[in-house]
Amino acid sequence: MNQHLAEKFGTPTYVYDLDVVAESRDQLFGLLPEGFQVFYALKANPHPEIAHELHRGGCRAEISSTGELAYALQAGFEPGEILYTGPGKTDAELAQAIGAGVRLFSVESVTDLQHVGVAAEKHGVVASCLLRVNTTQGSASTGIRMMGRPSQFGIDAETLPSLMPALKATPGTRVVGAHFFTMSNAKDEDSLLGEYEFVLQSAAQLHQEAGLPLELLDIGGGFSSPYAVPGVRTDYPKLRAGLEQLLDLYLPEWRTGEIELACESGRYLSGSCGSLLAGVVNVKESRGSRFVILDAGINVVGGLSGIGRLLPAAVGIEDTDPNGATGSLVGPLCTPGDSLAKAAKLPELAPGDVVTVPNVGAYGVTASLISFLGRPAPTEVVVRGDEVVSVSRLDYQRAYEVSP
Ligand SMILES: *Cc1c(COP(=O)(O)O)cnc(C)c1O
Repeated sequence: MNQHLAEKFGTPTYVYDLDVVAESRDQLFGLLPEGFQVFYALKANPHPEIAHELHRGGCRAEISSTGELAYALQAGFEPGEILYTGPGKTDAELAQAIGAGVRLFSVESVTDLQHVGVAAEKHGVVASCLLRVNTTQGSASTGIRMMGRPSQFGIDAETLPSLMPALKATPGTRVVGAHFFTMSNAKDEDSLLGEYEFVLQSAAQLHQEAGLPLELLDIGGGFSSPYAVPGVRTDYPKLRAGLEQLLDLYLPEWRTGEIELACESGRYLSGSCGSLLAGVVNVKESRGSRFVILDAGINVVGGLSGIGRLLPAAVGIEDTDPNGATGSLVGPLCTPGDSLAKAAKLPELAPGDVVTVPNVGAYGVTASLISFLGRPAPTEVVVRGDEVVSVSRLDYQRAYEVSP
């Protein structure tokens, strides 16, 4: 199938399988107690077809720009199903989002809440707001309790008791709950449960002692999925029962539906649906080392590593040969930073061959240095099993628009 798609659509090409999106979505809902809402973080992959498949199965959308708002609406989300987050919401963005009907915001500071309120009042509406909480960091399971770090994200938990009256009185807004997001990509169940215990404990305490409303409590995410290497999504068989136990302990009202619960995920929902097909452009030897030069570099995959956001990309191709010779997989860009894998066990490769990088449905195209060095964006092919559903390519500005 991949070989066939590479021949038909060329390389580099991303292939997203909607059947796998549906499977991931259903698996995540299955890991959670009944009634949990799941917000899909469009940051992971805003492709409308992927977002649509998640919406069809009951997900809501978490966005943090008007670009993502447009993708979410295109994917079929109702404005009322959207949560708008982020520390730098501009007045123009807020006006646009509220104008489009978005009514739920996560606010990261007192002034952020005020900005939402001003935009809502101009529109003659009241915006529902979740206070994002900057907790003291740490996982209950490991007993590590660091002091809360300064951050552009969230309101410092320790300041909430004194701020609460002013927050609740902010014109144009109604504080309806809290948003926690303390952890990404948790490798094991115990650290996830430990984190949630800490979050639920903090939420319950702020509810009781500071009057933090909890009509809606977003406990964050952290569900992990492999990135750009073979593997499967992490299963968390004890999560559902563990979470129910923690909720009974800290927020027993959840059983009566008094508190609506939500979590959020990007990579777990879209990561494993996507593969990148990259073409071998050249193979060269240099001082005893082999370099396989692909037509896909950090402009196509793993781009965030180029800006130091993540560890350097270390992709693993599906066709790795454990008995193969060692070599480097590099992209075509004129920077030594364009390295995808060093000392990889590679099969025999020659120009024209295609290699497959699995598990890049999240943080692929839009998390890459797409306009760096002026190459076209990769093709994105959406399939459902063996059937091609759509073919598209992000069209970024190839030429500068010069104003007179
Ligand atoms: C990035 C982000 C997510 C998604 O994170 P994943 O690790 O992809 O699940 C969810 N919520 C918020 C607030 C985020 O910033």
